[in-house]
Amino acid sequence: MSAAAPCFDDVRSAALRLQGIAHRTPVLTSTYLNQEVGAEIFFKCENLQRMGAFKFRGAYNALAQLDDAQKQAGVVTFSSGNHGQAVAMSARLLGMPATVVMPSDAPTMKIAATRGYGADVVLYDRYKDDREAITADIAQRSGALFLHPYDHADVIAGQGTAALELFDEVGPLDALLTPLGGGGLLAGSALAAHGVAPACQVFGVEPLAGNDGQQSLREGRIVTIAAPKTIADGAQTKSVGRLNFPILQKHVSEVLTATDGQLVDAMRVFASRMKLVVEPTGCLALAAVRAHRERFAGRRIGIVISGGNVDVEQMCALLAGPAVT
Ligand SMILES: *Cc1c(COP(=O)(O)O)cnc(C)c1O
Repeated sequence: MSAAAPCFDDVRSAALRLQGIAHRTPVLTSTYLNQEVGAEIFFKCENLQRMGAFKFRGAYNALAQLDDAQKQAGVVTFSSGNHGQAVAMSARLLGMPATVVMPSDAPTMKIAATRGYGADVVLYDRYKDDREAITADIAQRSGALFLHPYDHADVIAGQGTAALELFDEVGPLDALLTPLGGGGLLAGSALAAHGVAPACQVFGVEPLAGNDGQQSLREGRIVTIAAPKTIADGAQTKSVGRLNFPILQKHVSEVLTATDGQLVDAMRVFASRMKLVVEPTGCLALAAVRAHRERFAGRRIGIVISGGNVDVEQMCALLAGPAVT
């Protein structure tokens, strides 16, 4: 494993490593949405990936490269969301111990799922404790590897394999859109696009309330914001990663934004028209395409649906609200 920037070859190697282990998720289309947007849209359904999100790809790609001694020492991370579950599941597949540091008020379902994948869950008080200090302490005492959720070359390369599969299946695209949190998915996807379809424009999509990535690309430096309030909990990051940012600068055309209301509307369309359960963060790219129809009309577009881990109760409550667009 290296701290050096990942390149397209790393995405290809990750794809080989994940073959037969990650699902090759389906690519779906919707006549309704094609007509609505006036474009040809291909949806890469990572909501149907193992553990319910693309994060399995990056975590497994990173952990699979450890040597036996490192595997024995295990892995530790902090995450109340999909990365924690991805690390837990990957570690179990590789026979490694895993510890996930989670806030004590995280949904019991998520804590149970992470434990269910065999990880040790260490709870902390999000108002009093310093999760990074707790995680660093565990890493130091156990010799376990700390695996960052996005600022890591092998994680970025792994996340890029979803886009690689999409291009492999549908051929060249005019535009590719993915959600943007810390930039693991977007950087990996941009490397894949640059490698196999260099004419394809790549877009990231952030919650409007947390557009640090958009600001960063405009200002040419990593902008850090306060933790944004949004239902897109997978994109509540305060800044993009250090390894990620130069890749975004090089290969990403623009970062677009979507409001929470637009995310709920996209979630409703996914459920009613495509029979898909998509978590709010996974709705970002479709929400942006629907909000910017004029830019995407007449083009072939790829959209990465990044995840489907939403509580049924939360989804029902969101969909019961009024339609926005
Ligand atoms: C983590 C996550 C994202 C954001 O990914 P980054 O690599 O942090 O940009 C988007 N969608 C879902 C479902 C996620 O779990």
